[in-house]
Amino acid sequence: MVAIQSDEGPPCPVCRGEHARGECPGARDPASRLGVLVGPEAPVGPCPQAPTDPLVGSMVGSFRVQKLLGRGGMGTVYLAEHPIIGSKVAIKFLHESMCASPELVGRFYDEARAVNLIGHENIVGVYDLALLPPSRYYIVMEYLDGTPLSALLREGLVAPRTAIEILLQLADALRAAHDRGVVHRDLKPENVFLLHRHGRDRFVKLVDFGIAKLVDRQSAARTVAGMIVGTPEYMAPEQCENGPVDRRTDVYALGVMAYEVATGRLPFTGAAITQILLAQLRDAPVPPRQVERSIPPALERVILTALAKKPEDRYQDMAAFAADLELARREIASAAVPVEARDASVDRHGEPTSPARGPSSEGTERPGEATFPAGGPVSGELEVRYPDGKLRRIRASEVAHGGIFLCDEGTLPPLFSAMQVMVPVQGSPPLEVAGEVVRHVTAGDAERWKMARGFAVQLRGLDPARRAAVDAFAVRLAAPGIQPLSPPQRAPIPAPLALEALERRAAAGPYELLGANADAGFPEIRERARALRGEVESLRLRLRPEHQASRIPEVLARLDAAAALLGSPAERLMFDARHGNFRGVAHCMTAGTTAAVVEARRRSFLAERPGQAERAQRHLARAQVARKLGNPAAAMLEYEAALSADPLDLEIHRAYWELKRARGTPG
Ligand code: ADP
Ligand code: MG
Repeated sequence: MVAIQSDEGPPCPVCRGEHARGECPGARDPASRLGVLVGPEAPVGPCPQAPTDPLVGSMVGSFRVQKLLGRGGMGTVYLAEHPIIGSKVAIKFLHESMCASPELVGRFYDEARAVNLIGHENIVGVYDLALLPPSRYYIVMEYLDGTPLSALLREGLVAPRTAIEILLQLADALRAAHDRGVVHRDLKPENVFLLHRHGRDRFVKLVDFGIAKLVDRQSAARTVAGMIVGTPEYMAPEQCENGPVDRRTDVYALGVMAYEVATGRLPFTGAAITQILLAQLRDAPVPPRQVERSIPPALERVILTALAKKPEDRYQDMAAFAADLELARREIASAAVPVEARDASVDRHGEPTSPARGPSSEGTERPGEATFPAGGPVSGELEVRYPDGKLRRIRASEVAHGGIFLCDEGTLPPLFSAMQVMVPVQGSPPLEVAGEVVRHVTAGDAERWKMARGFAVQLRGLDPARRAAVDAFAVRLAAPGIQPLSPPQRAPIPAPLALEALERRAAAGPYELLGANADAGFPEIRERARALRGEVESLRLRLRPEHQASRIPEVLARLDAAAALLGSPAERLMFDARHGNFRGVAHCMTAGTTAAVVEARRRSFLAERPGQAERAQRHLARAQVARKLGNPAAAMLEYEAALSADPLDLEIHRAYWELKRARGTPG
């Protein structure tokens, strides 16, 4: 049996507080038309944000709970802050009424397990799962300081290009989930967050794996029949019938979202749930272009394929879905329409300003520069300051993992020499990134490996802005809007070279191997480790077994060690401390390492380093003087020097992160 939680009740049935109808912060998804279908244990307790909410203001693990963020079918989510570091997390408590059921607790933890298993940058990161005595179960997650897609939809038209950008990120996150045997089953705009990250406006984070199905025996046993089903408007026919659910169920739900994002309407609605379920089972959707004529035909085809009633008629996986979305994206980019103009338009019912073209055959099209109209380079060229101090404009042919391959027919700069690469930024001056020449491809190498002559540069000191610029440049380099390089130059880095580069990175250290900055958070570390593993595996296939394949297990062992070391707060804490990496130490605290543990570790750390605490204290004293003199910039530098010497000192951390927040630079 299923019960229905609807938001169509008497005014504020939840908190009885004084606020406008439908605006109770304790009510679940005020925007949604219908709640998740939940079982008889549907939580209808007191409003968690009532003044008596004992959680607000209390310490949970290492965090102080600040306020309620939202409430769902399984749990209540709070914003919490680390009192020393000031970093924010979201803590989701399993509803009290569910804590007594081992089955539901198991399912709740499955959510954390599923998310951890996937480790994808477009999926919310989970740091910890724990129990607040006597019996409140909770998970600590990455705090998403963004807006749900549902809010964007309420604002009005989402341009096709924006829609596809969001859908492609979702498809990639779900592909990763499916690869790990996880089916989400509750895809809907409320569960998609849009953030400003990595220089992007609509960086997607998928949340709420609360009813995700882990396709393995252990959790299959935990699926409580009829307990939690999904949200009717997004449910695939087989889900409506309580039939077998697989990755194609998510394909359908993403199809519903695609329809909604593109047209502003849901394909199937109804006054009663049964009506919606029946429509999912029987009705053909109104073709999107009949609702919204500006939708490109290719996008319409994608949506209708995803919405096929029978799973076997849909895309069979997210990769196929994404491939067609990509084609639709190219169709929009290649149309003569100035895309920006249409993006800005809110004329939903206007004619397309130029006839849209059908998809051109793959690989042969040469879309114009419409994709990057803001004046960014499309030639793949950038300026590089050589070790001799001269600025040269040269062509990059590959950008990956903090490295860049530069084509150069002249005299190659010496190995291990330093240089500066001016990475272009759309609409702003280029950002200078320091690098080191790590590999030469001489004329002979180039001939043998069928690639361009030149050299590889390992980029260093990639702060978030620089990393974002490099990532954006990499995307543009790989994008169809760019003039493709001649085929030999587009050849991937030869496998022996790639292996050598990996070995060099492994020898340099765990951060270098993963290509992560010292201040990378745990979700990023996990994601990088996962991606690198995939890369190494595919490299194995490209290597001739007789000479190089035996080196792969060694690289994989290093990768496992790096992931274990940097992926576990307890291990990483001391590694970072030994390297003066106080930002990494701060991440460990955010991920749950308690003050008591840090203090104990600090004692042994300092015992082996006489004089170091005193050095830190001298910097601390200077920082305090600088603050008194009204020079916060100098104070920051002194705090940083103090923390590099004594990275486990909580008092210095507190002062430093406080000042950093006060200066408006998030930690
Ligand atoms: P449930 O599994 O109970 O449906 P959700 O994971 O959907 O719970 O969370 C309920 C609400 O809490 C969400 O709709 C969202 O508004 C908010 N929320 C959830 N996770 C986060 C997060 N990591 N950061 C910020 N807000 C969040
Ligand atoms: Mg939810």
